[in-house]
Amino acid sequence: MTERPLPLLAGLIGWPVQQSKSPLIHEFWLKKVGVDGHYVRLPVRPGAVEAAFRGMVDLGFVGVQATMPHKRDCFRLVDSLTPTAKALGAVNTVIVQPDASLLGHNTDMAGFLEPLAEADFAGRCVTVLGAGGAAAAIMVGLASKRPARINLVNRSPVGIETLLKDIGPALDGIEVQTGDWSAAARFASESALVANATSLGMAGQPELPLQVSVLPDDAIVYDIITHPHDTDLLKAARARGLVTYDGMHMLVGQAREAFTLFFGAEPPAMHDGELRDRLTS
Ligand code: NDP
Repeated sequence: MTERPLPLLAGLIGWPVQQSKSPLIHEFWLKKVGVDGHYVRLPVRPGAVEAAFRGMVDLGFVGVQATMPHKRDCFRLVDSLTPTAKALGAVNTVIVQPDASLLGHNTDMAGFLEPLAEADFAGRCVTVLGAGGAAAAIMVGLASKRPARINLVNRSPVGIETLLKDIGPALDGIEVQTGDWSAAARFASESALVANATSLGMAGQPELPLQVSVLPDDAIVYDIITHPHDTDLLKAARARGLVTYDGMHMLVGQAREAFTLFFGAEPPAMHDGELRDRLTS
């Protein structure tokens, strides 16, 4: 990597952004690896991403991450895209290139897949609940693990239609079966993994209408909600003895790839337990 002026500055654009735990993750790793850098919250209003990008370059930032509602705007406004960002139609990490152009990445897919590195879904079905932005990363990530089929559940048919139009080519020939919530129990009962990518189960939102009793005994339950990280779905799955992963796994996983892009160093996995304690306490 070419010499860059210190400190290395990165941040998170979003609206709102004060609730994000991403700064905690990056600042934790910066201290551990001894890099002179900072990762800050940047409250950027809807519609102001283009201006924020100009400021980011002029202020010497190495890049930014994007959360709601800016991932689509970032996709539209960067100068070039990685193949993953292109396939997902969304950018969550923008890196300022040496010529000051902006390269858009999407690290959400790698983040979701991180705890599933050893999981084998060959010949099995998997079920995704939800068809929004996070579901896109999850669907394409799961397709890379070559399951026999992906079942997709969503409240609105139009959400399913839009998602499949956006990411269809990246599903690489994997069969997709779709349905509304009336199909959820049937889909889940045949699935090696059920992933919740809706906002159901989030603080202040209705509960997720799915009984874990229908799942196979070896099913994995993955709920990407971070607030709370230990949702009722995960508690019920654990009580049944199922393997579970929560939203902190995906959050830390997507941050890991972004950290290396920003700061040129690998986050040390040996401190993952300590980081998790800080994120969940
Ligand atoms: P979107 O707004 O793009 O999608 C929301 C999804 O939830 C849609 O499928 C929507 O269905 C569904 N939904 C919302 N309310 C209801 C309801 N009352 N009943 C049934 N379905 C509902 O959000 P994202 O995809 O960006 O985020 C989804 C969740 O994932 C959020 O909780 C978010 O915090 C979390 N997340 C976690 C990440 C992590 O790193 N851990 C990363 C990104 C997101 P419909 O299409 O019918 O409206």
